[in-house]
Amino acid sequence: MSEVLNVENLFGENVFTVGKMKERLPKKIYAEVRRVMDQGGELSLTTADIVAKAMKDWAVEHGATHYTHWFQPLTGITAEKHDSFVTHPDADGKMLMEFSGKELIKGEPDASSFPSGGLRTTFEARGYTVWDITSPAFLKEDATGVILCIPTAFCSYKGEALDKKTPLLRSMDAISEQALRIVRLFGNTEAKKVVPSVGAEQEYFLIDRTKYLKRKDLMFAGRTLFGAPAPKGQEMEDHYFGVIRERIGAFMKDLNIELWKLGVTAKTQHNEAAPAQHELAPIYEMANIATDHNQLVMETMKKVAERHNLRCLLHEKPFAGVNGSGKHDNWSLTTDNGVNLLDPGATPNENIQFLLVLACVMKAVDTHADLLRRSASNVGNDLRLGADEAPPAIISIFLGDQLEDVVRQLVETGEARSCLEGSKLQTGVSTMQQLDKDATDRNRTSPLAFTGNKFEFRMVGSSDSIGSPNTTLNAIVAEAFCEAADILEKAEDFELAVHDLIKEYMTKHQRIIFNGNGYSEEWVKEAERRGLPNFRTMIDSIETLTTDKAVKLYEKFGIYTRAELESRKEILYETYVKTINIEALTMIDMASKEILPATVRYSRALADTVIAVKEAGADPTTQAELLQEVNEKLTCLKKALDHLKKVEAEGTAIVDFKEQAFYYRDVIVKAMEALRKPADELELLVDRAMWPFPTYGDLIFDV
Ligand code: ADP
Ligand code: MG
Repeated sequence: MSEVLNVENLFGENVFTVGKMKERLPKKIYAEVRRVMDQGGELSLTTADIVAKAMKDWAVEHGATHYTHWFQPLTGITAEKHDSFVTHPDADGKMLMEFSGKELIKGEPDASSFPSGGLRTTFEARGYTVWDITSPAFLKEDATGVILCIPTAFCSYKGEALDKKTPLLRSMDAISEQALRIVRLFGNTEAKKVVPSVGAEQEYFLIDRTKYLKRKDLMFAGRTLFGAPAPKGQEMEDHYFGVIRERIGAFMKDLNIELWKLGVTAKTQHNEAAPAQHELAPIYEMANIATDHNQLVMETMKKVAERHNLRCLLHEKPFAGVNGSGKHDNWSLTTDNGVNLLDPGATPNENIQFLLVLACVMKAVDTHADLLRRSASNVGNDLRLGADEAPPAIISIFLGDQLEDVVRQLVETGEARSCLEGSKLQTGVSTMQQLDKDATDRNRTSPLAFTGNKFEFRMVGSSDSIGSPNTTLNAIVAEAFCEAADILEKAEDFELAVHDLIKEYMTKHQRIIFNGNGYSEEWVKEAERRGLPNFRTMIDSIETLTTDKAVKLYEKFGIYTRAELESRKEILYETYVKTINIEALTMIDMASKEILPATVRYSRALADTVIAVKEAGADPTTQAELLQEVNEKLTCLKKALDHLKKVEAEGTAIVDFKEQAFYYRDVIVKAMEALRKPADELELLVDRAMWPFPTYGDLIFDV
């Protein structure tokens, strides 16, 4: 028997939870902390000192030697700089471990090397990290020892956001304020806050680490840049939900334990569609905590994989020809007195508050489809979106039969008298229970699907932070709520006004609803006819950040200033260029130093064979044909390599980031594809023993 795991005891072991605060803080102090957590405001320095001491004592009892302000700069990952609790020894040489309220609340890392997109020049290096009191501090245990991590936001000297968390927190305030106005209209006087809840399903690949280390492309770019398809891919659909192999199971078990200790509610685990692909989903929680926790999930996956001599790949498309990885961002809105604004109830047609919320979401998504698309764009996702495995690059909403029918009735007659009901599930087996069926099936091709009591935003890339997608969802819906509340608060006859408004919004924005097959070519045409935007690649969508409507939205709710938006644009163009450039240089390196030499060696062996066979008096035609074929491909390879080298050099010389990004997409990416083709063909010809790195078959089937 294996050792019994006490998950209840384990859970949150490494977290300074609200419960621990309550236990360790004087009542009055705890009440003050709680008030700031729930309602905002500032802690007095005296209180902060007491909280810091309690936090430090708890951390030190658990072996912590250092603390860090843990933040999320615009690199998309997390950053930390450790400080020990060590202080100056007294006259007797005795040292006391200390941690002050000031150190808890504010940090000042030398921030000059983080991307700021021109918000700061290099000499203005000051940046501040500020404690996010609503996200609990936790302990990270690794070879460095035990580190107390304090979740923080990261701003410049002038208070401009330099991270993913600050705008998210601002957007949460905005949507809370506007959603409260909506629920007040319906008589909810109790709620003090409305919180966006988020559950992020995380897809990932696991491969053998020893093989990973033999592939420069995986090491430098996180994805394969070469590789012929293996004889078998995912066509048998035998991996999805398949039995989890022992080695992977051991990884998952270890991962769950680490996550539970960190207070992450790891809930579901399964094999995904592609060979070597898997998924983990936690239970949903407040958007900022979910965002922090998703970073911890990604980080812990990578760490635990190493222990099992595995490598976790979070890239959106590590392997061509099989599915890539995404992150489904499940989003809903709940009042602090427990009402989910996206819960339609049994009869959505009679739930006016729900219908108004739905109408506002339709309006928000239709008005700002471009911003949503942008928020789910990154370099890796360009290889996924619209490639018939992930949602298309066009934003639309899937409502399902029941709600679509309600919307149709409202648009046509201004009233929804009936609603389709879920029937019984007929299995045709007499010994099985009849189950109630949902009123609606699922649609896996939709980018934004209504799934029962939440929206599932399925475009997000697997390696990306969920900060921007959720900031965007919160912001655009806050705006729609605000506009609706402005009208309805003034209405003389509320009942009438709300019906009119629901009908108006649904009619005006019904083009955003699409229940059909998002992978089909007809949808692309239909979407164009409807006037829905279609940004095919990441860099097509960057300018959407500073359109008049975007600036108006973000400035109105204090989520981003124009300067912050401009800076983010610059960083996005820059990131695109840098990423593709690394990929191009990696391909040049692998082609020049590995693929070419291997092919030359193989052709030499073939040439020797031709001569030997001839000398031995046999017919060397077949060997000569093989040699000829290899030689031709080698010539193509060399040509494509020279071309890539040339255009890469030209690309690096372009000064303007935006111009450079488009050049990289239109010229360099094409040159990379041209180089990959002969290389992959050669892989299928050259003697396996001579091929310089593990193949797709080795990587994804032999884990
Ligand atoms: P599936 O793969 O079937 O879509 P999963 O169980 O993998 O479902 O993931 C669903 C995610 O949605 C989980 O993280 C879950 O906690 C989250 N979720 C469920 N209800 C809500 C809600 N009301 N708001 C936000 N997220 C939710
Ligand atoms: Mg899932």
